[in-house]
Amino acid sequence: MRISVIGTGYLGAVHAAGLAEIGHEVLGMDIDQDKIAALSSGNAPFYEDDFEDMLVRNARDGRIRFTTSLDEAAAFADVHFLCVGTPQSEEGNSADLRQLKGVIRDFVPRIRKDSLLIGKSTVPVGTSDTIRQLISEHGASGVAIELAWNPEFLREGQAVHDTMAPDRIVAGVGSGTAEKRLRDIYDPLIRKGVPFFVTNIATAELVKMASNSFLATKLSFINAMSEICDLTGADVVHLAEAVGEDRRIGRSYFKAGLGFGGGCLPKDIRALYSYGQQANVGKALDFLPVVDEINLRCRERTVAAARRLCGGSLAGAAVAVLGAAFVPNSDDIRDSPALAVATACAAEGALVRVHDVRALQRASQAIPTLTYDDEVLGVCEGADVVLHLTDWREYQDLDPAEVKSVVARTRIFDARNALPADRWRAAGWTFEGIGRPNGG
Ligand code: NAD
Repeated sequence: MRISVIGTGYLGAVHAAGLAEIGHEVLGMDIDQDKIAALSSGNAPFYEDDFEDMLVRNARDGRIRFTTSLDEAAAFADVHFLCVGTPQSEEGNSADLRQLKGVIRDFVPRIRKDSLLIGKSTVPVGTSDTIRQLISEHGASGVAIELAWNPEFLREGQAVHDTMAPDRIVAGVGSGTAEKRLRDIYDPLIRKGVPFFVTNIATAELVKMASNSFLATKLSFINAMSEICDLTGADVVHLAEAVGEDRRIGRSYFKAGLGFGGGCLPKDIRALYSYGQQANVGKALDFLPVVDEINLRCRERTVAAARRLCGGSLAGAAVAVLGAAFVPNSDDIRDSPALAVATACAAEGALVRVHDVRALQRASQAIPTLTYDDEVLGVCEGADVVLHLTDWREYQDLDPAEVKSVVARTRIFDARNALPADRWRAAGWTFEGIGRPNGG
């Protein structure tokens, strides 16, 4: 099938390549010329495991190409995925739908054949009503344009895997024709056993925000417990294992630490809460600001730990930060907890040096006031405290004795509860983690 994908950011680019991988002929469209130039020459504009290989393979086989032209996209296909951004609005918590509405206004008048538009962006429930209204205002007469919603659940850092083997596909449709179209698109995955849920459009919109709100709540729940652990001497790592072993609860997304960030979870829980306020849903969503607060407190607790390990003040202290990306295996630094902690330490007068495996370029562009180094030992040289803030595999394999040979003081705070505490202690380090007695 010929399919266009409008918006080739983190979601759209991987989705487009995934559609090509399962045999479709795909045209990716974006207004960002640099991004399209990179994708067209087989270079991923962001780091994501296996993405570039998938892109190059499908481009070579003629199944995917890219353009900045909406006219070309409109002429290319009669199925179009909408994958543009829905960030948090600048003035509040609500979702900023300007990219989405802008695409509809610009794209829909160019469509000359009956088409299916499939929203993939994360939106507050009810958004499709507004989009449908815009379609009817801007569509050419005599052209039937139907709207469906197919939310995306991929995780950055594992986006290719999640695209090729999703836990489920959700199809929000208003007709049997749209359902059939979506079934045909995903047929290769459905035949591999991926569950395919058909529902109405409002439910599909809400599934995504409900999923992210649940995941955020689960993470903040265990982080709230880690605050109790800090006060009582209980160990949150053992607690999460013992509680999570109950199959009704589960151990996934149940790890205490520096909390969640990125371009999705924080803005999605805020957008859902904001939607609830506007829609007068009463108190149903009042837990979400609490989830947000617990999460943000993890960052404050980490800064407080750094301060404490430096003897009560960060002024003039040399702080080595391991990690800048918001999750490992990605170079995305949107709302990165690691960079929030690094910036907060710098604001208290610390001399902060940051390392990351993949995100240094983006981080240094976004926050040029911090110092960056692509060598862990370079970042740790002369450090008064080392902060482990993004759990890249590479940090788990560090040799504590080697790091010890370059620091000023052997103090480390593992804000991801991921490093081998025993090895660091055995090498003479003062080792602390979040919610762990004596650091674990
Ligand atoms: P992004 O900012 O990386 O990508 C958005 C892209 O849309 C950009 O490349 C931008 O240039 C492009 N764009 C904006 N206006 C356009 C226009 N008029 N025409 C064509 N392209 C245009 O954002 P993202 O992370 O890819 O997220 C996109 C959507 O997917 C959001 O709603 C997000 O919540 C959702 N989502 C993201 C992820 C994720 O892990 N990133 C996962 C699931 C869902």
